[in-house]
Amino acid sequence: MHIPTLLAALIPATAAYTKLSDSSLKSLPSPGSDFDIKTGALLSPLLTVRVPGTPGIAAVQAHFVTFFQTHLPSWKLSFQNSTQPTALGRPLPFVNIVATRDPPWAKQGDVGRLALVAHYDSKIDPPGFIGATDSAAPCAMILHAARSVDAALTRKWEAMKSAGQTGSLEGEKGVQIILLDGEEAFLNWSDEDSLYGARALAASWEQATNPAMSTFRTPLSEISLFLLLDLLGSRNPSVPSYFKTTHWAYQNMASAETRLRALKLFKSSPNHPSRKKAPAKNSKGGAPAREAREPKFLPEANKKDTATWLGGLIQDDHIPFMAKGVEVLHMIPDPFPTVWHRIDDDGAHLDGATVEDWALLVTAFAAEWLDLEGYLAAKPVMKREVGGEGEAEVVMGGTETDARPEPVEVQGRSELSNF
Ligand SMILES: [Zn+2]
Repeated sequence: MHIPTLLAALIPATAAYTKLSDSSLKSLPSPGSDFDIKTGALLSPLLTVRVPGTPGIAAVQAHFVTFFQTHLPSWKLSFQNSTQPTALGRPLPFVNIVATRDPPWAKQGDVGRLALVAHYDSKIDPPGFIGATDSAAPCAMILHAARSVDAALTRKWEAMKSAGQTGSLEGEKGVQIILLDGEEAFLNWSDEDSLYGARALAASWEQATNPAMSTFRTPLSEISLFLLLDLLGSRNPSVPSYFKTTHWAYQNMASAETRLRALKLFKSSPNHPSRKKAPAKNSKGGAPAREAREPKFLPEANKKDTATWLGGLIQDDHIPFMAKGVEVLHMIPDPFPTVWHRIDDDGAHLDGATVEDWALLVTAFAAEWLDLEGYLAAKPVMKREVGGEGEAEVVMGGTETDARPEPVEVQGRSELSNF
């Protein structure tokens, strides 16, 4: 089926959202040792002081660039730079890092995207502050989600191309990672002393215009959903549904959480197999032990329309985007973690299982949003010649991540540029 661009523009981007099957959920990779706070390839380089304009944050920027260039070469990497006066009385440089993956045939301005967003700077005070939940761990979760859907996106788009389905509404869905600088205030939080990176990026994207006849007028309007992660990584988080207009997305994420828990894939769950106590010696079998009450990261799936929606009350990186009409799903716990803005918001105080569970949940949500059902599980795609009999299929074990085939088509080469 072909849907012309004009019609596609009239259909909300929320129209297609495909739940993953149980087997696809089970096939999602877990970050595992990559989230080790001392040696993990994804997380440990982020657990350092990252104050804007310092060598510490430059090292973290290099980590992101190396990650995308090494692991996700099909993503277009861009920087949005600004130099802004700050509350410290001197101007500082801010660098927003954006990685984008679109269908290879899509034209500029025709792709609506799921944006996965977190800030990567750390607060200047107290000295030595690491900001593990704020937002080193959320950045690592996003990197993990990006690499976990990458191969499936390649497979899906290749299949669509083979089937001649390019140009359909379905084809105009992409994904974007936005890593923001300068979220924290330097002295006291105010409209001027905070959100330096987010304000610069939202303004820049609002002003940039796409070619005439594009589906979306500006890069800002290409964001279908701004999924902002912040203050995640402490044990037992509870994230309310803040926005009525994106409650549908919250409900989808809550549903994914419930299903991942039921499949015993949540490591922080009291019912995860690794936490099951051995049966008592004098136990005579019989009825299995009752399961502990399952907690929920997202407890408000059944919130009523008439309930109180607190969206916008929490000042965070979504504010400049929301003010310009972008739809926001805010994953920030209420209450904040007890370590919030304290020196002990460090790697040692993260709950490793919770960090991994968030990464898995964000991955599942992104995969559902991108309609990756059928493309996720490491399918028997590796082919080899066997005794002149043509091709034999080899089932690849392990996870998506370690079974990733070469991208079929490199899209938009990794290029470094300013918006
Ligand atoms: Zn903070």
